[in-house]
This record gives sequence, structure tokens and C-alpha cells, in this order.
Amino acid sequence: MKLEGLSILGQGRVTAAGKSYAAINPATGLAIGPDYFWATTADVDAAAQLAAKAFVEFRRWSGQRRAGFINRIAELLEANAAAIVERVTLETGLAAARLQGELARTCFQLRLYGQAAASGLCASARIDHADPNRKPLAKPDLRSMMVPVGPVVVFGASNFPLAFSVAGGDTASAFAAGCPVIVKPHQGHLGTAELVGLLVQQAACECQAPEGIFSLLYGSGREVGIALVKHPLVKSVGFTGSRTGGRALMDAAAARPEPIPVYAEMGSINPVFFLAGVMNQKPEELAAGLHASVTLGVGQFCTNPGLIFVERGNGADVFLQKLETLIAATASGTMLTADLCAAYRSGVEKFSNFSGVKRQAQSKADLGAGNAQAGAALFVTDAETFLSNHHLRDEIFGPSTLVVQCRSRAQMLNAANQLEGQLTATIHGLPEELQANHELVEMLATKVGRLVFNSFPTGVEVAHAMTHGGPYPATSDGRSSSVGTRAVDRFLRPVSYQNFPDTALPAELQESNPLKIDRLVDGKLIL
Ligand code: NAP
Repeated sequence: MKLEGLSILGQGRVTAAGKSYAAINPATGLAIGPDYFWATTADVDAAAQLAAKAFVEFRRWSGQRRAGFINRIAELLEANAAAIVERVTLETGLAAARLQGELARTCFQLRLYGQAAASGLCASARIDHADPNRKPLAKPDLRSMMVPVGPVVVFGASNFPLAFSVAGGDTASAFAAGCPVIVKPHQGHLGTAELVGLLVQQAACECQAPEGIFSLLYGSGREVGIALVKHPLVKSVGFTGSRTGGRALMDAAAARPEPIPVYAEMGSINPVFFLAGVMNQKPEELAAGLHASVTLGVGQFCTNPGLIFVERGNGADVFLQKLETLIAATASGTMLTADLCAAYRSGVEKFSNFSGVKRQAQSKADLGAGNAQAGAALFVTDAETFLSNHHLRDEIFGPSTLVVQCRSRAQMLNAANQLEGQLTATIHGLPEELQANHELVEMLATKVGRLVFNSFPTGVEVAHAMTHGGPYPATSDGRSSSVGTRAVDRFLRPVSYQNFPDTALPAELQESNPLKIDRLVDGKLIL
């Protein structure tokens, strides 16, 4: 596939004009062609108009037909895996093996959403039969199902150039819901975005989807991104990135004459609590497990464990010594972009200058030709300092972590109570310790989307029961998940039909269940 550097507008391309930017190889700092031209205000309007028009037909597609389209995207990604992985490796500095894994995950994810659409899980049909004899009032026939909200704008994430980008979780879940998608790609992988975007366009064409079911518009977040979010025909937004970026989109969406939801996943420091019993049993093993999680993918995961609580004692001392040795010996890695690396380095400097915080270890890293090389860092403080300095709860996006030493279990609980909303919290303990620390478990459940026991938070399984979300500021809406089949709910809304004749009902709600989908009938799940 030849890359042209042009936005995708329905079945066509936008012509080259105006401002442009280029993809940069973070390992070398060199531009990788071609130049990418920014979409104009007229392109934004054209994409939104096309999407709204496509929605009229797409929303009527059966779940089976949506699944066919989504599965075709997965097939095309697999058929072009070598070219995609080659380009994304150049653009992100991520290892080819990691990207092959991410591509497989992306295809698995697409198929899971396809299955959710085909099985009726997305429609979530409910039927309450009428009871004309009910006293004092007759009960009406009520049937409800979830319907798509309309065109969705998706902001690709920097750190998952495949799984949370053009054909990633937000796009796949919006398609499963029946919503057209307009992607605003991330600058960190412009060429990958075009390659994948062209394959989605091809799948749409092969499946005879209405034009406008998919567009992809290059440009900056502040211009093209905000213009998309403000467009009156856009009905929802999916985003993964910084709190500043997510907040800007939330504010723009809320200020519209018709406010719309923004599902922003904005980061988290993912606290890990090591209870004393397990710490005394295997401190070195725990340090090795934590080190692997902190440094995985040069620390560029939203589930990276950035805050660690330990109870003071012999086990914790051995743990810290081991962690210090491992962090100091960590090889430097290429971060996704020079900007992310600069932000990481400045975060490390900020923590180093806080009184009461010790930089316990840092691995050496020259900036490299692309100004994107980073080493790992370990900070240590006590609970009093942690509680008195709220900046210590800030995310440092990269391979860094802060260990907080607590004098008692009560102090650990108090520190946990001060935390903001998080994607995850992890507890390491013996089973009986978990029982004894039930207050900690219950409190953390009020603050996070996922509680992890005796494991590490990095590695987010794509499954029906996964919650990748959490109260603000981890996400803009703690009732949602951006991974797993619950992610589809973000782009759906319920509609009830009261006393409708059977023939006038959507197939999902007709009495004979012609689509053979799972439904809740008179309060019972009928499979
Ligand atoms: P980002 O700066 O938030 O950018 C993400 C997307 O949002 C880009 O497309 C960007 O557009 C757009 N954007 C940013 N600020 C905006 C604004 N004020 N108005 C409109 N659009 C805006 O995120 P990033 O580049 O991926 O990384 C920066 C930081 O985000 C990291 O240091 C880290 O703290 C955090 N992060 C968190 C996660 C997570 O999983 N939660 C993942 C990655 C990064 P343009 O850049 O094209 O203008």
C-alpha cells in the first residue's frame, strides 16, 4: 500500500493543501515520509455530514451484518500484518514482537465486539409482556433495546498504536454499537494510521457499507480535534491520553448547545499495596515482579504501577534493596515520542527536588539521536511526606515508581484513602491478610475500576468481565469501561416501545425472536 499523507473522507481522500506534519522516528529523530496534510474546517464538516448520512442506514444493520464488517477489518489487518508492523516499529520505537502481539490483540478485540453485536449482547433486548387484568391498572406491553447514539469521534492513543488507535477498541466498539466513526489519529504514528485507515475503508467498501461509516482526519487536537468534538452532528467521543487533553475535550463537549458525552481515559498511578506477611515471605520475588511491571514497554502503560505502599520491616528492606539494584541496572529504552520523553524526564526531576523524597536509583540513559531515550527511576518517601505533598500523586508517564514506607497498617489505609480515582489498585498479601485488611479492599473498590490480587496491573485482558475505567480523574465517567464488551455501552442508549404491534417492532424485540438473540423476558434471561 502506498502512503499518500492524506486524510480519508468516506470512500475518498482529501486533497493535499495547507499545513502539514511528518512522522518522526523516535530512535533517530529523523522524519519518515510522506508529509501528512491537515484537514480543514470544510473537511471536518464533510466527514460529519457523511457520517450522519451513513448512520441512517448503518443503525439499521443487523448485529450479524455489523459483525461481518468488523471481522473483515480483522482479516485485512492480519493479511497486511508485516507492512503494518514494519511501519509502526519505525514510528514508535516499540519492539516488533510487542507490536505483533498488539496486532493479534487488536484482531481478537475486533472479533469479540463483532460477536457481541451478532449475539445480541449489544442490543440487550428486554420484554415485559402486557397484563390487561392487572389491578388497579392494566400493565402495558413494554419492550426495550439499546440503540446506537450516532457518529463517534475517536482520538487514537499514543501508547497503543494498534489496539487503541484507528481500528482499536474505541472504533471497534462504536462499530459494534452501530455508530459511524471519525478518527483523529495521534501524531506519534501517522503512517500506521493511514495504513490501518485504508484497510478499514477497504472493508467498508467490500461490505457495501454506506459512505461515511468511517473517515480519518489528520491535524492537531486543538484545531481538527476540537472542531470535530464541537460539530453538531457528532454524538459521542472516545479518547485515551493526558488529563489536560481529556479535560479540554470534556469541557468543549459540555459547552456545546447540545452537550455530548466524552469517554476519556486519562491515566492513573495504579497503587500497589504490599502487606507485611507476604512481603516477609518473598521480598526479592515481589521486587522482581514489580520491576518487570514498572519497566514493561518503557513504562508507557496506563496501568503502570507508579505508587507502591509497603509496611516498614525486614521484608520491606530486602524488597527495596532488590528493587534498587534492578532499577539501577535497567537498560534504557526508546519512548514513543521525544515530547513524551521530555515530559518523563521533567517528572523525574520534579520528584527529585521534593523535600522528603529520595531518588533511590536511576538507570543511565543518554537522550539519543531522537531525544527519546529514557532510563528507569525509583523514588522512596515516608507516608507523612506523601500525605503532605499532593504532587506526589501526579502521574510520571514512563518507567518510574515511588515507594511509600508506612509505619502501620492504619497509616497505609489513611494514605489509600487520600487517593484519587484510579484504573487499578493491587494488593499483595496472604489470603488471611486479605481478610484482615477487608477495610482496605472495600475502600479501594470505591476508587478503582479493577482490583488485582497477587499479580501486577499491567496487561489488560480483553474479556467480557474486564473493567478498564475508574472514577475521575482516571476516566471522565467511572460508569464506563474502554476495554471488554462493556465498552460498547458507551455508544448506546436505551429505547422502549410501548404497546407496539409485533410487525412494527425491530426484529430484536419481535415475539418470535427471529434473530435468535439472548433476551430478558419478564425478568428471566432466555437464551
Ligand atoms: P495527549 O497529549 O493528551 O494527546 C492525545 C490526543 O489528544 C492527541 O490527538 C492530541 O492532539 C489531543 N489533544 C491533546 N491536548 C488537546 C487539547 N488541549 N485540545 C484538543 N486535543 C488535544 O496524550 P499523549 O500525546 O498520548 O501523551 C501525553 C501524556 O498523556 C503522557 O505524558 C501521559 O501522562 C498521558 N497518557 C496517558 C495515557 C493513558 O493511558 N491514560 C496514554 C498515553 C498518554 P495533537 O497532539 O495531535 O495536537
